[in-house]
Amino acid sequence: MASSLSNWIKRNVVSRYMMSTCSEERKCLKVLEVILDEESTPEEEKMYFEHIQKCWPCFQNYNLETTIRELVKTKLEKKKVPEGLIEKIKSEIEKSSIE
Ligand SMILES: [Zn+2]
Repeated sequence: MASSLSNWIKRNVVSRYMMSTCSEERKCLKVLEVILDEESTPEEEKMYFEHIQKCWPCFQNYNLETTIRELVKTKLEKKKVPEGLIEKIKSEIEKSSIE
């Protein structure tokens, strides 16, 4: 289910409105790390968030990174992991490996 939905999105949304590959994915990942570490400048954030609206791989990286950080933070706080979070991570990983 999750992967067929992801394929549908890729065919109907991504191909029309987003880039399906990113020539600067590594650079974008570095910027994302800086943003998540809260060490970014407003300019970097603006550029990055504008970019991921048009860039499918970077959008997925963003979702995956924020989900993982959320999980790690929850674990560190020794709280119960929210229901569905593990599933969300699994499906994100599954989606990002589809090509
Ligand atoms: Zn990108």
